[in-house]
Amino acid sequence: MSASDKCSLEQEEKKQVSRSFSDDNLVGIGGFGRVYSGIMPSREISDFGLAKLMPEGQEYLITHFSDFQLACLGSFFLHETVFFFSGLPFIWLERSGWLTKYKIQAKINSPASQEKCIARLLLYHFGVNLPVMLCSYPVFRYMGMRTSLPLPSWKVVIAQIIFYFILEDFVFYWGHRILHTKWLYKHVHSVHHEYATPFGLTSEYAHPAEILFLGFATIVGPAITGPHLITLWLWMVVRVLETVEAHCGYHFPWSPSNFFPLYGGADFHDYHHRLLYTKSGNYSSTFTYMDRIFETDIGYRKLKALKSAEVEYCTEEKKL
Ligand SMILES: [Zn+2]
Ligand SMILES: [Zn+2]
Repeated sequence: MSASDKCSLEQEEKKQVSRSFSDDNLVGIGGFGRVYSGIMPSREISDFGLAKLMPEGQEYLITHFSDFQLACLGSFFLHETVFFFSGLPFIWLERSGWLTKYKIQAKINSPASQEKCIARLLLYHFGVNLPVMLCSYPVFRYMGMRTSLPLPSWKVVIAQIIFYFILEDFVFYWGHRILHTKWLYKHVHSVHHEYATPFGLTSEYAHPAEILFLGFATIVGPAITGPHLITLWLWMVVRVLETVEAHCGYHFPWSPSNFFPLYGGADFHDYHHRLLYTKSGNYSSTFTYMDRIFETDIGYRKLKALKSAEVEYCTEEKKL
């Protein structure tokens, strides 16, 4: 048998193992994953599955990389790519002065402070995030994450990601409120608040202890449901884009908060950064309802009411 025949035989065996594993575990072996697999008939999953759209890509990944490489190194690489590609344009926007009319605060960050942020991010991402990701492989396995085909259906992917957003927002809200207590703010959270005028990349500028907390809040949902790796990656991508948008410092006509009433976004989180830590409020990461329920958005709502009254007054003045 030639070397290439042997290689293709090995790859075929690997696919078979993956498939037989996935047949029994269509949506993961984590707790909620079992619930989903009970609710959704397997035929429906294959009919509407992502497998129809991108099976080759996934097959390539599982035959060329180990589960460890995909879950740990793949996730790290994807995170870095999405984070820096989505965050860097806002540095360019600030420096070029383009679209300034949509900037929330008038203050501009100096190039030196932007570069300090990037240097610290690279140090923490490679010194903290990467080692944590490498060590967390057993956790990925324990939570029932799988890489095999078939890919989950869009319904399962969307349901899981909505669940992750709600859970992450809840955990983040309470963790963030605790981080605003005197000792924790002084020794941990004040690092994130060094930038009172945030820009995209400041979303992950934080003390290593806070990075671990953010990681926990992000991973708690997947840990419960045992998702497919693709779902985990998609969740990571939308969560990174969401937090970069919340820190971008611009409120555009096309900002998501203009279209989704419960979504916080840049204007909501920018308010949190520009106020003194005891008065900041707006602790949620994604939605606005937790702050509304626990009345930690009173200052923000008063400011919004004042602004809209001012706009109304000016419009009336112009008419007269
Ligand atoms: Zn804060
Ligand atoms: Zn922030």
